[in-house]
Amino acid sequence: MTNNPNNESCTYKQGLEINCSPLMAKRLNFIFQTANTAPKDKCVEWPYNRDQNGYGKIFLNGKIERVHRVSLSIKLGRPLRHGMWAAHAPVICHNPPCINPNHLREASRTENMNDKIVDGTHVYGESCHSSKLTEAQVLAIRKSSETQVILASIYGVSQSQISAVKTGRNWGHVK
Ligand SMILES: [Zn+2]
Repeated sequence: MTNNPNNESCTYKQGLEINCSPLMAKRLNFIFQTANTAPKDKCVEWPYNRDQNGYGKIFLNGKIERVHRVSLSIKLGRPLRHGMWAAHAPVICHNPPCINPNHLREASRTENMNDKIVDGTHVYGESCHSSKLTEAQVLAIRKSSETQVILASIYGVSQSQISAVKTGRNWGHVK
């Protein structure tokens, strides 16, 4: 197989990208960075293609996958068990485009339905606490080749905060 930069296809196996176009590699990097370093208290919304229900979708290994499932399996270090769902955790998050694995759990269909009942007694929506970056996140931001806008969305901070981290104006002591 040849690598076609215009082709939105990508093979992804056991944590390795194989034969991915630059576009797809960028999207996978977004998922890796979110899966490994996203803050606990902030939703990370998938900024690319979504399905009609608002869930992020990506064309991987020849089929359409839901991005929040991919993100949770990276966090778990294994594929989801057969028949299990990546459920947005009740109360914490009821936000289909959110792929923050801290807001997801592996659940059976029944558990997922029960979550929705629990959620019914609470106000829907993402939690909007302003988050403070950890040192690990600061290092990941400095290393990342994502745009500042994308990084701001992953870490739930403003673009100017990302800029300040990148230039060392903030967090200068973290090397
Ligand atoms: Zn969320």
